[in-house]
Amino acid sequence: MKVYFIGAGPGDVELITVKGARLIGECQVVIYAGSLVNPDILKYASEDAEIYDSAPLNLEQIVEIIKKAHKENKNVARVHTGDPSLYGATGEQMAELNRLGIEYETIPGVTSMAASAAAANIELTMPEVSQTVTITRTPGRTPMPEEVENIAKVGGTIAFFLSAGQGAYITKILTENGWNADTPVVLVYRASWEDQKIARCVLYDLEKTLKKNGMTKQTMILVGKALNGNPENYSKLYDRAFSHEYR
Ligand code: SAH
Repeated sequence: MKVYFIGAGPGDVELITVKGARLIGECQVVIYAGSLVNPDILKYASEDAEIYDSAPLNLEQIVEIIKKAHKENKNVARVHTGDPSLYGATGEQMAELNRLGIEYETIPGVTSMAASAAAANIELTMPEVSQTVTITRTPGRTPMPEEVENIAKVGGTIAFFLSAGQGAYITKILTENGWNADTPVVLVYRASWEDQKIARCVLYDLEKTLKKNGMTKQTMILVGKALNGNPENYSKLYDRAFSHEYR
């Protein structure tokens, strides 16, 4: 018996890995994070699978379902949105499974950061403009253990998860720490879903643009000079005079 933590991808059910979809089909129990995972992924589940939406469940209740499956020797697909390693609270579930001696494995997924960049056809890294991407969030009920000032000082491109309600805070904290108010911002609401929305603005207008477009919960906020596109300096990667091992 095994628990598979599976990344469902950002929404579009075709953006799950082949392996993730196969395992959902093979597991007799499927627990999916219904608040963000597209319920259509259940089409990959077998007809007689037991299906649970974890949205109304607490950790103990999820562990109870897994314990029962363990007793009945049934494999469990624990389906998380995007990639499970980012803001998925998989760590605490794994800690419980360790305690119970239940085996598990993680299958990665397409994070909403990648799906958002794809939706807007942008590069998060660009030669001589940005070679670093910071994945972060603004503080909410979950406090921030890192110093936001230090994150701002890194520069590069920042992807803010879980921060749609904090546009004004992002503008304040970044501009107070050396970012220009005209730094480009790309906002993607529900990347890869049918009602996906994309908006571009500058750092100064972030809050206003979020509000104007009704961008709430499922919004990715990307900030950085690279987002302007059209690099002035092409990379060496496809340079004629350059042989490269990463092409
Ligand atoms: N593990 C997930 C992140 C979960 S945290 C992943 O890898 O994508 C939830 C946050 O992810 C949301 O607040 C939002 O910032 C972002 N998010 C999730 N789905 C999204 C989508 N389809 N489009 C844009 N942002 C999304």
